[in-house]
Amino acid sequence: MNQSSNNTDVVIVGAGIIGIACAHYLSESGAKVTVIDQNTVGSQCSFGNCGYICPSHVLPLATPGAISKALKSMFEPSSAFRVKPQFDMSLIKWFWQFSKLCKTDVMLETGHHLNNLLVSSKREYTEVIEQLDFDCEWKKNGLLYVAETQNGLDDLRAKSELLAERYGVSSRLISGEELLSFDPALRVGLAGAYHFEDDASINPNKLNQQWYQYLKEKGVEFVEDCSLTGVNKLGNQVSSIETSKGVFKADNYVIAAGAWSAKLASELDCKIPIQPGKGYSLTTNNPDICPEHPMLFPEHGVGVSPFKDGYRIGSIMEFAGFNTSIPSKRIEQLKASAQRYLVGQSNEEWKYTWQGWRPMTWDSLPIIGRIPKLHNTFLSTGHNMLGMSLGAVTGKLISEMIQGVSTHIDTQAFSPERFN
Ligand SMILES: Cc1cc2nc3c(=O)[nH]c(=O)nc-3n(C[C@H](O)[C@H](O)[C@H](O)COP(=O)(O)OP(=O)(O)OC[C@H]3O[C@@H](n4cnc5c(N)ncnc54)[C@H](O)[C@@H]3O)c2cc1C
Repeated sequence: MNQSSNNTDVVIVGAGIIGIACAHYLSESGAKVTVIDQNTVGSQCSFGNCGYICPSHVLPLATPGAISKALKSMFEPSSAFRVKPQFDMSLIKWFWQFSKLCKTDVMLETGHHLNNLLVSSKREYTEVIEQLDFDCEWKKNGLLYVAETQNGLDDLRAKSELLAERYGVSSRLISGEELLSFDPALRVGLAGAYHFEDDASINPNKLNQQWYQYLKEKGVEFVEDCSLTGVNKLGNQVSSIETSKGVFKADNYVIAAGAWSAKLASELDCKIPIQPGKGYSLTTNNPDICPEHPMLFPEHGVGVSPFKDGYRIGSIMEFAGFNTSIPSKRIEQLKASAQRYLVGQSNEEWKYTWQGWRPMTWDSLPIIGRIPKLHNTFLSTGHNMLGMSLGAVTGKLISEMIQGVSTHIDTQAFSPERFN
């Protein structure tokens, strides 16, 4: 790792994967870094997710047809993509903006920006995880998109061709028959799959905790149970922040508060149109025949991540505000979806269920950059469904911005200015 000299000090608000990655690259550049979190490190959306580091996830949520799906979902409580009927002006505005982007040309352009981030992030993760020898179940055996039906496989074929042609993301078709030897955990009779060989995966909690320990040893200070409550300003600068554990003062500030970032908008004098996109996961003992590959079942909107000590079924996207319930019908839905594809049954000697809020922007792009009216404060949030995948590149970009050097990729599309 390169160590350069950057004498600034920085306070980061939020210790999810994004705050942790920002702390890493800033500390590497020589900055003195403090990270505060109102909970504990890595305990929120970065905890129980599927752990895919997936350059194949180039296409945004706003695709042609997405808005009619969202409208229908209001009447289908078991839909994997659901908007709960509610009167919330910020959500209505969010969907209004989202609906305007559900067009092919916008989707392709957004995909181009995401592709730049995803490719760089995978490269950065490979370097960080392998050089620092993090024990986080780093696997480079790709991501398998499995189709149950021929229609599902036809959709995957169209997607695979588009990704190859537009973005150079390659994949390999695996026939239904070949699938049985490719991953013996899959059932007989599935239509086939596409294997995106350049995707990777990690155990998200292990990555967060390994990185956290490493950074603490490197001198990064973490303050848990510490909530940002106010922002003091002097001209166009933040002079200090008020927290539940007193005042913190730094040269620069980074807001990496995930789905909660929108709550800080008025304190920061800028628009942060983020909605919480709730997802669920179920983690249980490994079944007798455990999948070898991380897998996605797009027809049912579910993913499966095999970890050393248990396997995880995750997904669902609910726009329902900050609601913490974990309805058993949602967990049963995850299990039933996975059982359509997998032979092994877990005996569920132990299991835990989880819910987390993804920080969703209406344009599916993260918000990475300087706040227009506060020149020493940066947003690093809004990573939608890709926060694990995009952690490393985001950390690197924020560090480059704070050092004042040119960023290694063009960041205009991610700037907070686009909302102001
Ligand atoms: C079911 C599911 C599966 C997913 N699978 C994947 C996947 O396979 N690959 C992938 O790339 N992404 C995946 N994601 C998305 C990914 O988990 C998120 O994008 C990512 O975790 C967001 O990281 P974050 O650091 O921005 O947010 P968080 O991890 O939520 O961290 C934000 C932190 O900010 C703190 N905070 C908030 N407000 C304040 C305040 N006022 N003061 C102090 N601290 C504050 C919070 O306590 C929290 O710890 C998945 C998400 C879900 C729900």
